[in-house]
Amino acid sequence: MRTNLSVEEALALVLAEARGELGVEEVPLREAYGRVLAEDLASRVDHPDQDDTAVDGYACREEDTWGASGDNPVRLRVIGESPAGRPFAGRVGKGEAVAVYTGAPIPPGANAVVRVEDTRREGEDVLLFAPASPKDIRPKGDDLKRGEVYLRRGDLLTPGRLGLAAAMGYPRLKVFRRPRVGILSTGDEVVEPGEPLPFGGVYNSNAYSLLGLVLEAGGEPVLLGKVADRPEEVLARLEAAGPLDLLLTSGGVSMGEYDVVRKVLEERGEVVFWKVKQQPGGPLLLARLGGLPVLGLPGNPVSSMVTFFLYGRPFLFRLLGRTDPPYRPLKARALTPFKGAKGKKVFRRGVLSVAEKTVRSTGNQSSGVLRSMAFGNALVVLPPDQDAREGEEVEVIPLTFVP
Ligand code: AMP
Ligand code: MG
Repeated sequence: MRTNLSVEEALALVLAEARGELGVEEVPLREAYGRVLAEDLASRVDHPDQDDTAVDGYACREEDTWGASGDNPVRLRVIGESPAGRPFAGRVGKGEAVAVYTGAPIPPGANAVVRVEDTRREGEDVLLFAPASPKDIRPKGDDLKRGEVYLRRGDLLTPGRLGLAAAMGYPRLKVFRRPRVGILSTGDEVVEPGEPLPFGGVYNSNAYSLLGLVLEAGGEPVLLGKVADRPEEVLARLEAAGPLDLLLTSGGVSMGEYDVVRKVLEERGEVVFWKVKQQPGGPLLLARLGGLPVLGLPGNPVSSMVTFFLYGRPFLFRLLGRTDPPYRPLKARALTPFKGAKGKKVFRRGVLSVAEKTVRSTGNQSSGVLRSMAFGNALVVLPPDQDAREGEEVEVIPLTFVP
């Protein structure tokens, strides 16, 4: 077992556990939002499938309309109309026009469109107060070219990409199975919300903040409830958990006599590392139980969330083969001082303004103050032994799940 690792060493070891492939399943488009593509998608169509009009107006021959202006309109004869989806059957000849509506194919013979705002209809004729232009024609394949790959294995299916898959003609998509992530809370004092709180008790908040984090990262949370600080209870619950891709425990990984998670994993599993030089989340533990990777998260509500965000989330991204990075650090100017720690990398909670490139503290930075994770939207990263003064530039990691 390794101990007292740097954040970077710990992350590398966690990611190394994300081995093997998740299975693939096929889902209809309506169920594919937020999933990760398991196949490359080449467009089945050209879009548009022929030159079409980007505006409502009149399709005609550009050369017939040269010089048209408010004082000197050009008169064309309207020989028909073509709404989107109803191509005009004939051909546009000299001095002729077809009324076209956005998305309609450009009729044969026409090579330009004049916008309806620049025209006035007069019975069978139309007066043009501006020349027609080819600018408002969308060429065939402007958006999508048949056979070209636009979405790739590992791409997260965002709203725009779901629409794109539909536009390419796919009714169903192959996506990676969502990783099943067990969430087990430990602690004699931990009580489910809804039950009466005994003296010294604390409601099980970790299970639910972790549930949200797992969902947000594309995993399927499996709530395993809570167990008391007794090795038999921890073991029994783990054995009954069913197939998982990752197990999260919260609590019981510190130095204390009652920190049984660590003891159980030492005896029954294999501890890869324990303790990272960071704050919050220093007692983080990585183990294997059978083939199952286990992240032993510290019990303090902020610590468990921060460690999941920094390690569990990248693990799930890796397992899912996601092509987007799990987080994107940026720089901001500190509006308040932030306190570092000796020998440890520190993650304070802050309120980041992306527009102003500033960040201020959420206030009380104790690992037990969950409000900082409910209303903060960024982690302020301080290297070991470094405080940040007001006005200084600091590194921040936006919390992707906060609006
Ligand atoms: P531990 O890591 O077990 O030493 O717990 C550290 C602190 O986190 C203690 O104050 C616990 O009461 C608290 N805690 C542990 N588990 C949870 C939980 N599931 N929900 C909320 N707080 C917890
Ligand atoms: Mg405990």
